[in-house]
Formats: sequence, structure tokens, C-alpha cells
Amino acid sequence: MYDLTVVGGGMVGASIAAVLAQQGWQVALVEAAEPVPYQPEQPVDLRVSAISQRSQSWLERSGAWQALSQMRLCPYRRLQAFEQPTDVVEFSSESIGQSHLGHIVENRLLQLAIWQQFPEQLTLYCPAKVVQLQQDEQQASLLLDNGQQLHSRLVIAADGAHSQLRQMAGIGTRGWRYAQGCLVAHVHTEQAQQDVTWQQFTEQGPRAFLPLSGQQASLVWYDKVERVKQLAALPSAELTAAISREFPAQLGGCKVEKAVWFPLARQHALQYTQGRVVLAGDAAHAIHPMAGQGVNLGFADVACLTELLLQNGQDGLSQPTALLQRYQRERQPQNWLMMTGMDALYQGFGSRWPLLRLARKVGLRTAAQSAALKQWLTRYATG
Ligand SMILES: Cc1cc2nc3c(=O)[nH]c(=O)nc-3n(C[C@H](O)[C@H](O)[C@H](O)COP(=O)(O)OP(=O)(O)OC[C@H]3O[C@@H](n4cnc5c(N)ncnc54)[C@H](O)[C@@H]3O)c2cc1C
Repeated sequence: MYDLTVVGGGMVGASIAAVLAQQGWQVALVEAAEPVPYQPEQPVDLRVSAISQRSQSWLERSGAWQALSQMRLCPYRRLQAFEQPTDVVEFSSESIGQSHLGHIVENRLLQLAIWQQFPEQLTLYCPAKVVQLQQDEQQASLLLDNGQQLHSRLVIAADGAHSQLRQMAGIGTRGWRYAQGCLVAHVHTEQAQQDVTWQQFTEQGPRAFLPLSGQQASLVWYDKVERVKQLAALPSAELTAAISREFPAQLGGCKVEKAVWFPLARQHALQYTQGRVVLAGDAAHAIHPMAGQGVNLGFADVACLTELLLQNGQDGLSQPTALLQRYQRERQPQNWLMMTGMDALYQGFGSRWPLLRLARKVGLRTAAQSAALKQWLTRYATG
């Protein structure tokens, strides 16, 4: 019998599986698809994430961050937010005495770097999917699509926003689809601007620049779903021209390599645990990606869960209810707060209502003029 089985070997699930297996726990990991090995000449993954310093510390614990540093990532020292390109509010790592605010990383490479840290005693079931969950007083049993059966004392569901485990455990969710979608484009830029990430707020939705190593970047264009779909269908030259028209001047010249669009949804699990199953990462919460917080919240979930598990030891798994309730009490309100903050941004910056327009202008100006507020916001953004 395993101490725990993690279902979903994405960034979040793999990271807790690695840390606990390194601590000598009997861990199984079930994942549908293995990450592709790294070659320096490989094209950039279109899915990239802004990783906070707090998440970096969590990833250093297993050795994953050190492995990722040998591949590709891009640190940024400045974060800019503005409506008009002439009225920029800047947050800098210098103002809080740090070397950087965060890093932009490719999701696939981060996942791979975590997988490289799995110790021998971690048992990997891949490719495999769970088709049935059963629980009793002593254990949780999973039936895999290849006929294998796994018994464990705890199951961590980290199988993403469409989590099957969450459904099998009978945990409901609350949420909605946003009227907005987002286009993510990988571009080469004429000018080097690797130390800054910026976001322009427009009534149609934000336009964001995330630097990647070399003169490459990821651009994120939020707009109505129909518009974003049309943009994603354009040939590269036409999309490049549309970006030149609609993005602010500080982008400079760029050339689109490839692009894809994503629908956006808010979804929060009504409870994080049921019996011996506990949710983490997008399986528990999916959030508007405007402020790049999704996977950072997921890492905060598993860092919290790991502390509780290590404090209680393997023996604590015989009766895990109190421990899992404590995890829920700690993480659910924090995740709710961040999701609600994102909704306030979404509503505030998307609105044509004069009072809200005034409030957001005053908000940005106040942030620009108050050194203390800027410092606080900068520290908050680094996690
Ligand atoms: C456009 C966009 C931009 C974003 N930018 C940022 C950002 O800048 N910063 C940030 O923090 N977050 C960002 N996010 C959010 C971030 O991508 C997610 O929060 C993160 O991927 C969630 O990780 P996860 O491991 O919980 O789930 P996932 O990445 O969805 O991984 C789930 C894993 O489970 C596996 N799986 C699924 N079902 C099964 C099954 N039945 N059996 C076995 N395995 C299964 C999948 O193969 C996958 O490997 C962004 C999201 C979007 C859409």
C-alpha cells in the first residue's frame, strides 16, 4: 500500500510527489502523458508562466529549479502596468532589495525539470488514467485504465481544471466562463527587453508582454472570445500586422512564430477534500490568468499540504480528516481572495462606466505616487 498516490503529474502534482518521495514516503504518480525530453534547439512551448520567488523556493526544495536553470528561463526585474503608454506605473526588484521579481518559464520545461527529480522509490504509472475510485475507512483504491489497482492512504487529485478525480469524489464546483478569451503568441522582437514584463489595460482587455530568453517573448492578447478566435486563425504575417496596430509602442517591431487561443473560466471547488481524496492546483481552483497567479497558487497549495503531512508523519495518514480539513481552512480562503481580486480587475478595467474608469485611474495614479504602496504591491507580487 502506498502512503499516497498523486493523480496528475503536471507542474503541481509532480512537485509534491517529488518532495515527499525524496523524504522517503511511498509515493505513486499516475499521469496520462510523459513530458518530452529537452533539446536546446526545440521551439519554445506556447504555454508559459510567470513564477514568483515564493514558488521558486518551493521548486528549489526538490532540485527542480536548479535543473530548470540548466535549460531555459528568463528573469525579470521590472513590472509595468498602464492604460496610456505615457502613464506607466513601474514596480522594480531594486525597490525591495531583490535581484529579480520573478521568472517567465515554459510550462513543459518546468514539468520536465520536476520529473527529473523523482527518486527511484517513486512508482510511476504513465501513460495511465484513473477509471474508478473507491474509499473505505482504511484506504482509497484506484482502478487504472490498464487494469492495475492501486491502494493508498491518501490520494492527491492534481489532474487539472477538468479533474476526473474531483468528479469521482463527488466534489462540486462553482464558477463561470468569462466572455473574454486570450490569444498567446510566441514572437521574436527587434529590440532586447528581457528584464521587463508589462501589461496595458484597455476596455477590450489587457495586452501583456512576457519576456523569454534571447530576443523572444510571449504576448497575451485578451479580447472577446470571437475576436480572439479570429486572431488565432490568421496567418502569421497578418497576426504580426494586427499586433503592431493594437499593442503599445514599447513592444517595437516583432514577428509572430506561432499562436494559440484559450477560453477563460473561473472555477472553485466547493470543498477541497472528501474522505481520503484531497484537491490541489487547478483541480481545486482555476483563475483568470491576467495576473499570472494560477500555478503559483497551486504551488502554495502543495507547499502547505507538504508541511502538514510532514508535521504529522506517515502515521497521521491513518486518520487524515483533521489534517485535510486544516489544509482546506488554510488554502480555500486564500485562493478565493486571489480569484475575487482578479474578478475586480477584470470588471474594473473592462468597464466603460465613468465612475469605475475614474476609480481605476485614481488607483493606478495612487500606486504610481506612493512608494510604500508600490513596495507593498511589489512584495505581494513576488509571493
Ligand atoms: C493563457 C494562460 C496563461 C497562464 N499564465 C500563468 C502564469 O503566468 N502564471 C501562473 O502561475 N499560472 C498561469 N496560468 C495557469 C497555469 O497554467 C495553471 O494554473 C497550471 O497549469 C495548473 O497546473 P496543474 O498541475 O494544477 O494542472 P495541469 O497543468 O492541468 O496538469 C494536470 C496534469 O494531469 C494530467 N491528467 C489530467 N487528467 C488525468 C487523468 N484522468 N489521469 C491521469 N493524469 C491526468 C494531465 O496530463 C496534466 O499533466 C495560465 C493559464 C492560461 C490558460
